[in-house]
Amino acid sequence: MRTDLLNRLATHTQQREQAGLRRRLHTVARADGMWVQRDGRRLLSFCSNDYLGLAQHPALVDALKRAADSDGVGSGSAHLICGHRAAHAALEEALAEWTGRERALLFSTGYMANLGVMQALLQRDDVCVQDKLNHACLIDGAQLAGAELKRYPHADVEGAARQLAARPGAASLLATDGVFSMDGDIAPLRELSTLCRREQATLMVDDAHGLGVLGPQGEGSVADAGLGQGDVPVLMATLGKALGCSGAFVAGSAALIDGLVQSARTYIYTTAMPPALAAATLAAVRLAQAENWRREKLHALIARFRSGAGQLGLPLMPSPTAIQPLLLGDARAALEASEALEQAGFLVTAIRPPTVPQGKARLRITLSAAHEESDVDRLLEAFSRLPSGAASARPV
Ligand SMILES: *Cc1c(COP(=O)(O)O)cnc(C)c1O
Repeated sequence: MRTDLLNRLATHTQQREQAGLRRRLHTVARADGMWVQRDGRRLLSFCSNDYLGLAQHPALVDALKRAADSDGVGSGSAHLICGHRAAHAALEEALAEWTGRERALLFSTGYMANLGVMQALLQRDDVCVQDKLNHACLIDGAQLAGAELKRYPHADVEGAARQLAARPGAASLLATDGVFSMDGDIAPLRELSTLCRREQATLMVDDAHGLGVLGPQGEGSVADAGLGQGDVPVLMATLGKALGCSGAFVAGSAALIDGLVQSARTYIYTTAMPPALAAATLAAVRLAQAENWRREKLHALIARFRSGAGQLGLPLMPSPTAIQPLLLGDARAALEASEALEQAGFLVTAIRPPTVPQGKARLRITLSAAHEESDVDRLLEAFSRLPSGAASARPV
């Protein structure tokens, strides 16, 4: 008898439930800065990726409305048919200039950008070397491209070198998150770029969590490490995090971008993002570049959180960025701590396997320039009062 696919899926769901790993969808009825209304309650969110507090900025809203008034909503087609509008072109130009690249190419999401780049660059028999903690879509991209995926221990440059050395003749892409999405630490980008030069491998950095946050003008983790297009030929970042919009881009040489236009299937065979969204994102780029106070405020809040959490004995991880996870280990403990915080009026999601490795469940706390010092203090205060069920997040 054939396996029934829907039954099998339902069994998987039950198994996740039993293991304390069931994922649940909650509807946010209203968002007002870092405040969200959920299940009839107002919660102060510490889990959004809106690091610079731009998602509701009036300049973005205004740009979106104006563009929608003149251009409507949908782009009508893929970029290569007739969906590529002036707003897309202007945004691509601004992103290329900001990141110090010859050109940039928009994708509808970061997930699609990574799938598209890898599928365009890699062939069967090529090697894709990746940090074990890379974002899921980088892993998926290499697998979908049919390349041999070789992972190295987190941030271990020697490990990466060994993986490259194992296939000395193979065309190789080394891909890493710039800022790791669940840990918040920064990849050893200078060392990886030296390694890639030596081994003639191509380096790709996914800077979803670095763009806007790191670098003197928010250029991201790569510029912050003093590296340019020659060192990191393939730079990808998203528009849905610090820029407060949605979408992604790949930046690099004109030849890279031309090649992606020819070959990246997730670019070619999909509808271009709404032009009004590109217009709003351009407004976000301008603010992210110009308003250094947002980065300064964010970094002050990060320091305040780390110092307070350290004093409370909370299980901080070594992160200098807006992502400040507390490593609880056990999935149920993470869930209980998250629920206890919700009772206290805070929204902090528990991140459990397989998003993070077994035994490494955590509360992924994120900070934003839209938070105030008093918000951080109140969160820390709530931690100091967590009930016994959330034992491992309680001060020791
Ligand atoms: C969020 C994220 C992505 C995916 O970007 P989307 O635009 O949300 O699809 C890719 N890479 C990293 C490291 C991310 O954190």
